[in-house]
Amino acid sequence: MEMYERLQKDPGIWDLFTCNEEYQSTIRDKFNRFPYYASKNRTVFEPKASEFLIENGFHVEYQDGSPFAVCLTHDIDKIYESVSSKALSAVKNFAGGKFGKSIISIRQIRSKKIPYVNFEEIMDLEEQYNARSSFYILALEPSDRDYTYPVEHLEHELGAILDRGWEVGLHVGHEGYRDLNKLMAEKKNLEKITNNSVIGCRNHYLHFIVPDTWELLSKAGFAYDCSFGYADCTGFRNGMCHPFRPYNLQKRQIIDITEIPLVIMDGSLSDTYMRLDPETSWTLTRRLIDTVAACHGVITIVWHNHVLAGEQRTFYEKILKYCREKNAWMTSGNDIFTWWKHHIKD
Ligand SMILES: [Zn+2]
Repeated sequence: MEMYERLQKDPGIWDLFTCNEEYQSTIRDKFNRFPYYASKNRTVFEPKASEFLIENGFHVEYQDGSPFAVCLTHDIDKIYESVSSKALSAVKNFAGGKFGKSIISIRQIRSKKIPYVNFEEIMDLEEQYNARSSFYILALEPSDRDYTYPVEHLEHELGAILDRGWEVGLHVGHEGYRDLNKLMAEKKNLEKITNNSVIGCRNHYLHFIVPDTWELLSKAGFAYDCSFGYADCTGFRNGMCHPFRPYNLQKRQIIDITEIPLVIMDGSLSDTYMRLDPETSWTLTRRLIDTVAACHGVITIVWHNHVLAGEQRTFYEKILKYCREKNAWMTSGNDIFTWWKHHIKD
C-alpha cells in the first residue's frame, strides 16, 4: 500500500501509473495494441513514476547488495528454421498423429541441426556472466495462429532448463490476452509437459489491453506477467521501472498480480519499429540501463532465441557484460517476483 499512497500524492504521476489514457483512447494498431505513438507521454525513456517514488522515500534492495536488477527473458516463437522447412511438415505429422515421421524432427533437434533449439547455449552464455533467465514457451494447439511447434517436442529441453535453475514460463498465444479459457488451456498444457507449476508469462506480440489482460492473467493463476511494454518503442509504458501491482480504475481496486514491466524488446530497436542502427541501439540501451540503475529498478529485456546468433548475439552479450560490470543482479522473472514478494514493502 505504501507505493499507492505515494503515487496518489501527484495526480499526473497517478494518471501515468494507472494508464488512464489507455482507458480513454480508441486508437489500436492492427494487433489491437495501444501504441506508443498514440500516447501523450513523451518522456517514455524516463521512468517518471519510479523516480517520484524514490524521491519520496521508496526503498528497494536486491540480493547480494546489487544496486539494480535485470530481468532476462527469451520468447520462443519458433524452434524450426522456417515454416516451409521439412521440419515443420514433421511437426504437422506429429500433430496429425503420425508419430513415426515426427521422430525425425526430434532427432534433428538433438543433433543440433536446428539452430533455434539453442537453450543450452543461451544458458552457458548467461552463466559466464553469473546470470539466469526465463524462457517463455508457446503451448498452442495445431489450429491456433502461429502454431510452429508442438510443446511436446521440447519436453527434454524444458526439463534441462528447469534442472539448471532457469525458468520456464508461458508464452501466451495470440488470443490469451482476451480469452480466459484459451489462457488456462495453454497454461495447463505447458504444466503437463514440464510437470511443474507455471507462474509467469509474456504475451506473444505483446498483446495487452489495460486493465482487462491483467484481470485475466490473475484469474488464470499467474503470479506475475512481463508483457507490459510498447512494441513500437522501448522504455517505460507507465513510468515504472519497478515491479508493481496494477490498479483497475474502473473497479477502483488493486489487481492481484505482479507486473514486471518490459523495457527493451530486441525487435523494437531494429528494423521492425524504431529502425535504429546498431550504434544508436547500443547508446539507447546503455542509457536505459543507466537510468534503471540510478533508480534501483528492474530492467526487463527480451531477446528471442532465433536472433541469438551473429550480430544480435554479440549485442546481447554486450548487455550482459555491461550489466555485470555495474554489479546488477541478472536473473529470471520468477526470481525477481519471489524477491519482490518477500523483501520489498510495496
Ligand atoms: Zn512471441
